[in-house]
Amino acid sequence: MAKVSLVDLDVTSKRRPFPNLALMKLSAYHKSKGDEVYLNFPLIQPDITYASCVFTWNGRRRDGLPPEAIIGGSGVDLKAELPPEVEHIMPDYSLYPNVDFSMGFTSRGCIRKCPWCIVPEKEGQIKPWARIYEFWDRRHTKITLLDNNLLAAPNWRQTMEDLIAEGLKVDFNQGLDIRLLNEENLDYLKRVKASELRFAF
Ligand code: SF4
Repeated sequence: MAKVSLVDLDVTSKRRPFPNLALMKLSAYHKSKGDEVYLNFPLIQPDITYASCVFTWNGRRRDGLPPEAIIGGSGVDLKAELPPEVEHIMPDYSLYPNVDFSMGFTSRGCIRKCPWCIVPEKEGQIKPWARIYEFWDRRHTKITLLDNNLLAAPNWRQTMEDLIAEGLKVDFNQGLDIRLLNEENLDYLKRVKASELRFAF
């Protein structure tokens, strides 16, 4: 049994941001192997250390990590990916005890190439990624979708139908592309439970 240290570099004493999805998946994977997993707990002597950083302004915090640490996240490395057996595992939501919603991607990539955005380089062309059942914990009535451009995804209808069928309250966290609205997807959007819809253009 290995001791696994997970380091969320975006957590600071002043700011506790969004739960880190990659770390929740690594936690689930290692727990499934019988390993002990610790989050931001520097007092152990770990066998493996993973660190993740989403925001570039926290990237320099990696300097305090052991040299053998495996580091990923868009704040430090646009090309690092989780292996498929980790990427497609149910996240371990217990890693962030205050989280009362599920989260994940049903698609990756984007059809656009906005010059300020890392998504085209990081994820490439848009593609289906998962159905909500891969990351929806049945104890949650809320779900946050992290898709970059859901309405452009080839599987957007399936995702909407799943959300409607399960009655989940959804947060389209990255916003919806207003240029892609049409009568068909508007009809779906009227039927999903969303307290607010954010649009980008
Ligand atoms: S539409 Fe959004 S996700 Fe796609 S490239 Fe532009 S900013 Fe990035």
